[in-house]
Amino acid sequence: MLNLLVKNMQIVRIDMLKGKIWLNGELVEWEDAKVHILTHSMHYASSVFEGLRVYNGKIFKLKEHIERLLRSAQALKLHSKHDYDDIFQACIEVVEKNEIKDGYVRPLIWRGAETVKIGAVNNSINSMVAAWEVAKPAKINELSLCVAKWRKPNSKTFPVDIKSSGNYTTLVVSQLEALENGYDDAIMLDENDYIAECTTSNIFFVKDKEIVTPKTTNCLNGITRQTVIEIARQNGYKVAEADITLNDIPNFEGCFITGTASEIKPVTVIHFKNQDYTLPNTEVSEFLLNKYREMAENYDYIPRFIYSNSNTL
Ligand code: PMP
Repeated sequence: MLNLLVKNMQIVRIDMLKGKIWLNGELVEWEDAKVHILTHSMHYASSVFEGLRVYNGKIFKLKEHIERLLRSAQALKLHSKHDYDDIFQACIEVVEKNEIKDGYVRPLIWRGAETVKIGAVNNSINSMVAAWEVAKPAKINELSLCVAKWRKPNSKTFPVDIKSSGNYTTLVVSQLEALENGYDDAIMLDENDYIAECTTSNIFFVKDKEIVTPKTTNCLNGITRQTVIEIARQNGYKVAEADITLNDIPNFEGCFITGTASEIKPVTVIHFKNQDYTLPNTEVSEFLLNKYREMAENYDYIPRFIYSNSNTL
């Protein structure tokens, strides 16, 4: 069984875990899953990835995540010999082999180290899937957000609905800056000053029985976002997608973020224009989290999906 990442409040290094990683079709030991320092994707962020969660030994929304991974790979011209079924099986295999009950799964597709030419047409295309346990938080922390100084790159720059490593440059820097300044995360605005999302999650605002979230023009249409909208509507909430600015924040009573890793977390403070705005209503996010967990914990795999264009990329 894999070590928990946090043991007695000590952070355990992810690269020092024990277990099996699926690498280009084979299961290898954790410590042997290595790449060369001249790997193309390390220099130019020419890779794509996914983040999935395991509940009760099953990977929640596995199909949706693999579809997005393959869409991301297509956008980066990462023509892998491993198709939908290979990655689907690889995800299940690493969860089973490592005996993960509640955990995280990380697939990655990347360009190899044969040359460092930008247009490395003949470089190998590699795939891996790793999985490890994560402890469920005993208590849900209320988050505080600031506003990032960088803008979310728009969809004319590159598709925003994929998880390519290059899309994360701005997000990594913005999250680091938020943490340095004592906040849990940052709101990313788009080029038109509309709220797009947070660095690794979507954002929702609450007023009475109404929930509003940014349109997907300049954010990732998260799998959790879509699930939460569905759950909320099934439970009598009105959910609207709208253009939201920072000036709208004082009109809301609650706020929460959604994402595979973070699930649904309440946000109670947003800092902008030198002021802290409080959003005390956490009831809606607590309700949705309970419903979301119920769904995730009772999830089972749906029958094989045929990837529409071709079986291999
Ligand atoms: N936006 C960004 C930028 C993200 O990285 C994530 C996490 N994948 C999300 C939103 C939430 O997406 P999902 O619910 O599919 O995990």
